[in-house]
Amino acid sequence: MKNYRKELFFEVPSRRGLINISRDVQDCINESGVREGLVLVNAMHITASVFINDDESGLHHDYDVWLEKLAPHEPVSQYRHNVGEDNADAHMKRQIMGREVVVAITEGELDFGTWEQIFYGEFDGRRRKRVLVKIIGE
Ligand code: ZN
Repeated sequence: MKNYRKELFFEVPSRRGLINISRDVQDCINESGVREGLVLVNAMHITASVFINDDESGLHHDYDVWLEKLAPHEPVSQYRHNVGEDNADAHMKRQIMGREVVVAITEGELDFGTWEQIFYGEFDGRRRKRVLVKIIGE
């Protein structure tokens, strides 16, 4: 069985943003040489997510509006966590959108369902953050 590990780095210039990282993950699979197996992709920060959904800009806007209703950034004083920081909402947004995804690798490709794409969700950006890619298989 083959093992592969790589850290990807992302720096979103705003507080919040979504990046389609499917191509980066496929590049890792190609580099690993794994044809049949599993890939785990997880955010290595507790204020960012990795999730699977549609690459559609209207939906991405809707996510942002929905998450802001559930856990508004302002006023930052509403959160007990915000003593010396201002990212309590980002922790909650991360909780909702999830930490990781696992995708099957079949014949060397991401074995996606219809319209599925992998996203990095940033909720406290403007700094360099990491995503782990772990691949096992043969
Ligand atoms: Zn925090």
